[in-house]
Amino acid sequence: MAKKMVYCFGNGKADGNAKMKELLGGKGANLAEMSRLGIPVPAGFTITTEVCTQFMKTKGKYPKGLEKEVENALCKVEKIMGSRFGETQNPLLISVRSGARSSMPGMMETVLNIGLTRATIEGLIAKNGNKRFVYDAYRRLIMMYSDVVMEKAAGIETKEGMGIRHQLEEEMQTMKDERGVTFDTELDGDDLKKLTDIFKDKIKQVLKKDFPDDPYDQLWGAIGAVFKSWNGKRAIAYRRIEGIPDEWGTAVNVQAMVFGNMGESSATGVAFTRNPATGENIFYGEFLVNAQGEDVVAGIRTPQAINVVSKSEASKHLPSLEKLMPVLYDQLAKIRTRLEKHYRDMQDIEFTIQDDKLFMLQTRVGKRNGAAAIRMAVEMCEEKLITKKEAILRVRPAQLDELLHPMLDPKSESKAQKLARGLPAGPGGGVGQIVFNADDAEGWAKQGKKVILVRNETSPEDVNGMKPSQAILTAKGGMTSHAALVARGWGKCCIVGCGTLNISAQKKVLSVNGKELHEGDWISLNGTKGIVYEGKIAVLPAQPEKNVQYKKLMGWADSLRKLNIRTNADNPNDAKIARNFGAEGIGLCRTEHMFFGPDRIAAMREMILADDPEGQKKALKKLLPLQRGDFIGIFKAMNGLPVTIRLLDPPLHEFLPQDIKSQTEMANQMGVTVETIQAKVQSLHELNPMLGHRGCRLGITQPEITEMQVRAIMEAACRTTKQGVKVYPEIMIPLVGTKTEFEHQRDLAISVAEDVTRKSGIRVKYLIGTMIEVPRAAVVADKIAEIAEFFSFGTNDLTQMTFGYSRDDAGKFLPDYLAKKILPAEPFQTLDQEGVGQLIELGIKRGRATRPNLKIGICGEHGGDPDSITFCHKAGMNYVSCSPFRVPIARLAAAQAAVK
Ligand code: PEP
Ligand code: MG
Repeated sequence: MAKKMVYCFGNGKADGNAKMKELLGGKGANLAEMSRLGIPVPAGFTITTEVCTQFMKTKGKYPKGLEKEVENALCKVEKIMGSRFGETQNPLLISVRSGARSSMPGMMETVLNIGLTRATIEGLIAKNGNKRFVYDAYRRLIMMYSDVVMEKAAGIETKEGMGIRHQLEEEMQTMKDERGVTFDTELDGDDLKKLTDIFKDKIKQVLKKDFPDDPYDQLWGAIGAVFKSWNGKRAIAYRRIEGIPDEWGTAVNVQAMVFGNMGESSATGVAFTRNPATGENIFYGEFLVNAQGEDVVAGIRTPQAINVVSKSEASKHLPSLEKLMPVLYDQLAKIRTRLEKHYRDMQDIEFTIQDDKLFMLQTRVGKRNGAAAIRMAVEMCEEKLITKKEAILRVRPAQLDELLHPMLDPKSESKAQKLARGLPAGPGGGVGQIVFNADDAEGWAKQGKKVILVRNETSPEDVNGMKPSQAILTAKGGMTSHAALVARGWGKCCIVGCGTLNISAQKKVLSVNGKELHEGDWISLNGTKGIVYEGKIAVLPAQPEKNVQYKKLMGWADSLRKLNIRTNADNPNDAKIARNFGAEGIGLCRTEHMFFGPDRIAAMREMILADDPEGQKKALKKLLPLQRGDFIGIFKAMNGLPVTIRLLDPPLHEFLPQDIKSQTEMANQMGVTVETIQAKVQSLHELNPMLGHRGCRLGITQPEITEMQVRAIMEAACRTTKQGVKVYPEIMIPLVGTKTEFEHQRDLAISVAEDVTRKSGIRVKYLIGTMIEVPRAAVVADKIAEIAEFFSFGTNDLTQMTFGYSRDDAGKFLPDYLAKKILPAEPFQTLDQEGVGQLIELGIKRGRATRPNLKIGICGEHGGDPDSITFCHKAGMNYVSCSPFRVPIARLAAAQAAVK
């Protein structure tokens, strides 16, 4: 039997269910599920994602048999709804909506009110006696259809503000101006009838085509346009950002229309079963009386709150749904409870009230910011709605980032000049320079500038600029507007509905309360309160430890994870921060960072310039106490926890100035000629420094450096031990490729350590191990493990050397590689499990074959990347080490890896 292409739902029944998201998309699967649950859903059907994939493959041809299946499904809808599509007396109107497997809010297309033609209009007016309503529906159909089907799907590109929809909006504004009215609702039936004629003339003039007057032409035009919108520019951009595969395709949902704009007993709204901004367990939402869904999202009118707890500054004076329509509110609140119990997660729902009758148009798992995700996960677990393991899996590790993000410093905030107030759509603080369009935001951010994207309202076309912005500010829109939804999903600071802003995107000017601000001017946003300030306000680091639910969730994560989490830190301050974030030791202390301080670089340079062992020793003697002091600070900060210290790694030329001005300065300081410096720079020059004289190769040719460093470590360890600090030093040799290299450095280290022990009379237990970052080391790990007491995978170098991509130059081609799908992910961010991963597994297997209890970790950047952490867990490592701010992310990711 041929594969089923169309799935019906309605009247308490459905062909599909919530589990069929891959085939029916999220919207279709959930409409089916709600219908099965007996929740009132307008009847309809879903055309599968497989049809979309097929449609794409055949460059826009529908599979055989689809037309028949659609006809049959339409018949069923007609029966349930008691009206017929295209029939003049009692016409059925339908909507055509996209619905991908994973929600892509606003990225694809929708066409409403399909089926209105010259013939059916009259029938509909005769039936419901409401001319205004019918022509309002018609003008909306024309606007959407001409934009979505006749322009976008036809591949017509327009300049900003020149699209057909915009031109039609201008016609409507002209009519409103002529009538002297402000709102669309003030135009009467005759006005709207005339407007639809004006619209159709305009379409003919601009697009050189007639607006279709056949209901089936409209239907198939809309279905094709929705399929094509999967490959629209903004949908593609969104998929790149969210990592959604291109192959998924979208389903198309065709559904009987219900109308929220049939008068005062009709309404439409969007709600969340819990507050998506805070996670609080309250029913939260907005609605508009006498409106269609697009009016709520577009932010044209100020939406009203569904209940008292949802009221905002902007809606506090407006009556709630609970007050206006108590019976329907009650019914909605019951559905809220039902849906949340059924789906066991916060739902984002859309509803329409048509003539005092409630219909649900959508339910889906609601997007939430990090703080809300944590609160919901913890509270739902405490309510016994979900298990602890599920709670752990409910929070994406990256969402913790938001909690760890800065806020405006209240002290400087209290003194700052307030510019405006809007809705707090995304919490936290954002400080940046104003830009007025997405491309500028993207371009400026690429140059390393901090920007705030300021728009009247955002649309899905703006996502490329929204992502790299520090914050987003819009003049229009409510908590469910596009900007708010997208920012919330990303956990970005965002203020919407800031009505006092007067923005001219074209002139790049923002005026507010008699002030003018221009592109490049600095503003600061408090996204938690919705306040915009002039200028740059200081920001404070986040304090996640003050968040009760966060602490609980992290406690659960810690009890479930198997991996230890360490940090990469090379000074006491970073070590303390990391420890506060839950680090259980230092996995990598890069000692070279300690040589760059103004008081140290001179001694370091002296050592490099010295041309006899004596001169070198003298310089190293100066460095010894400085290094020792650093280690003392770090050991104290990490009292009781292990500290892995890596010996000098980078090539020595990195410590010398490369430009003539600095070389002259250095020459003057050191009392040598500039030629001497230049000769040294010349002699240290390498064609491939990353593969050159660095790591243990330095320590082997200049053992005095290793000697000094080990002495500093061990003397610091003895001194701090004497002071009662618990010290667990782990000395790590970098860039080892052979057992003999490691052996050379290890023997030297042991002899120095023993010397320090003898002299100090204090025995501190220490380990000597190696980094595994040269592919050869992974291969001969069994040999190295004969004498190495721990391994730490340096996946930065291991990636570099396995791929043969220079870490410093790969930025030139990797973006292209990602765009052309040569690589699935940036290999220096997310571990290449297929290739580099094999070397890691091999290294672990061979290392432990020799030494079963070998302690193994990772200290490359991948140690803070959730996917890579999952890999490390599976590979059987003991710990991952990452930068201080990523420690909580790693703790959660490690727990997720353990419970998955
Ligand atoms: C590594 O190579 O992964 C590493 C941690 O060392 P570095 O980045 O300092 O080379
Ligand atoms: Mg390295």
